[in-house]
Amino acid sequence: MSDARSILKEVFGYDEFREPQGAIVDTLLDGEDALVVMPTGGGKSLCYQLPALLREGTGVVVSPLIALMQDQVAAMAELGIAACYLNSTLSPEAAADVTRRYLHGELDLLYIAPERLIQERSVQLFQQREPALFAIDEAHCVSQWGHDFRADYLQLSMLHELFPLVPRIALTATADERTRLEICRRLNLEDAAQFVCGFDRPNIQYRITQKDNEKRQLLQFLHNEHAEDSGIVYCLSRNKVDKTAHWLQQQGFQALPYHAGMSAEQRQHHQQRFLREDGIVMVATIAFGMGIDKPDVRFVAHLDLPKSVESYYQETGRAGRDGKPATAWMCYGLQDVIKLRQMLDDSSAEESFKRIEQHRLNAMLGLCEITSCRRQALLSYFGEQLLSQCGNCDTCLKPVDTWDGTEAVQKALSCVYRTGQRFGTNHIIDVLRGSDNEKIRQWHHQQLSTYGIGKDMDANQWRSVFRQLIARGYLKVDFDHYNALRLTEQCRALLRGDERIALRRDSREATLRPARANRDSTVSPEDKHLWDALKELRTALAEQHGVPPYVIFHDATLMEMVELRPQNPAALRRINGVGDAKLERYGEQFLALLGNFGTTGDGPAFNFPEYSGL
Ligand code: ADP
Ligand code: ZN
Repeated sequence: MSDARSILKEVFGYDEFREPQGAIVDTLLDGEDALVVMPTGGGKSLCYQLPALLREGTGVVVSPLIALMQDQVAAMAELGIAACYLNSTLSPEAAADVTRRYLHGELDLLYIAPERLIQERSVQLFQQREPALFAIDEAHCVSQWGHDFRADYLQLSMLHELFPLVPRIALTATADERTRLEICRRLNLEDAAQFVCGFDRPNIQYRITQKDNEKRQLLQFLHNEHAEDSGIVYCLSRNKVDKTAHWLQQQGFQALPYHAGMSAEQRQHHQQRFLREDGIVMVATIAFGMGIDKPDVRFVAHLDLPKSVESYYQETGRAGRDGKPATAWMCYGLQDVIKLRQMLDDSSAEESFKRIEQHRLNAMLGLCEITSCRRQALLSYFGEQLLSQCGNCDTCLKPVDTWDGTEAVQKALSCVYRTGQRFGTNHIIDVLRGSDNEKIRQWHHQQLSTYGIGKDMDANQWRSVFRQLIARGYLKVDFDHYNALRLTEQCRALLRGDERIALRRDSREATLRPARANRDSTVSPEDKHLWDALKELRTALAEQHGVPPYVIFHDATLMEMVELRPQNPAALRRINGVGDAKLERYGEQFLALLGNFGTTGDGPAFNFPEYSGL
């Protein structure tokens, strides 16, 4: 263990393990298998990187994310770790070179795509020289129920038979019990030590707001809270991604689109910019994000409803991996509910599958409409209990107003019934509000007893009622009949007057964080010069080394430099995130810069150094 600790500081620059990294490392060092379920940002990679350094041989990391391997290898190089990758993007010569280096024992880590690993030549390679361990990243890809299923992952069970003495570690951020069991069964990990961490991400603020004008709402959110930050905006369709990105550009944001309809080069290019530059807003379909380990994504905004709570958790989880405050913001409305239900209905999947998806969507809608703490609901979905309210979600910060909707709901439901359950929301609202139009006259709906009984509420208020009724399962939408609303069994008690119903009162979203200018609480105005200078130096070094800025140093590491003002190598090395390799590489330049600022926060002692010559 003392070996592990000294490597933790020397190579990674960290003083302490996070729970339960230490125990996982020990398990692998003892030659045992492990299953690790840890939320995004928990620190999974260290769990196999560190034992790979300490055990004889190379650590082999199986990952489906080919596009990210190059960056992972570059990040390892910055730490002084010898890493390579094997996948289809390598030329035969380059692959032969990697193989040679592997056989000579020159590599600490080898990243490999699953389809490559299961090939005969790879198996032979590993038989010639046994790896230190196998790390199976994104292990939920073995699950046929999940959305990331990869057939190649199923064959990874052979590792157990072919290399019984090599410890294996499977890692995932997918929380649910069924997936966990499936991973163990399919990968022969029933006897593995299990490390299942809590899923709370306390630094993420969850907010779900009602849609009235999504563009205006998004703009207000960005301007007020994340004007210069990196973030992701998720949309359902490619078309909407393109339009939204374009529109954000016009509003002065550095926004880029990302979806499966773009060429691979374009996507790669945009992903690179997102990783390497500060303050890029990626507007994307869910095709973007898996495995993106940019630690300083400050917000994830959803303009459309995710299909399930699992997706919501995963997508929002890309924010705030560095543990600093981040926002998960979503706006949704009646149309989203209808659209998603329709997509499900139209899909050619089997009935049993559709039913499961329907269930998942309902749970997601439940989370949207809930009037109590969102985090409690989110965690309880994953079987975890949060005893008190979180204080960091919209419903905690600004408790939801509810109103007794019983009478309004009775009017709404009987109007659906009287019009024959053949009309969509808009027409029903017209009837309730006593509108006079062609369609009303054509169907003689002005003669109905429910005509005009809802004049006391405006169309928006009625839409809110219908959204909640659909979301909560009192009404269902018939997509084969022009989105006609139909009553469900659940309505009986309400219509008989045996049940009362409380509805959310939708209100305009309040700004829940102070504006950007006074939010940078960690950097005081007098430290701002140094902070900016450190970031500038980091960016220059990152460009020079062809890696993202956070690979040089995290924000948290720069922040510690601002606070502690180290003035010599020994003091600099004590900063969290500064290991031996980085001290040697960058120590001098950072110390020179820090020297200019002295030990107090008075600003620069003399002019900024020039970095252009780097
Ligand atoms: P995951 O793969 O679980 O999403 P990562 O392995 O990318 O998470 O780690 C998330 C962040 O936490 C990384 O930036 C990593 O450098 C940092 N980290 C990991 N372990 C520690 C530790 N013991 N102390 C401080 N920071 C850590
Ligand atoms: Zn809460």
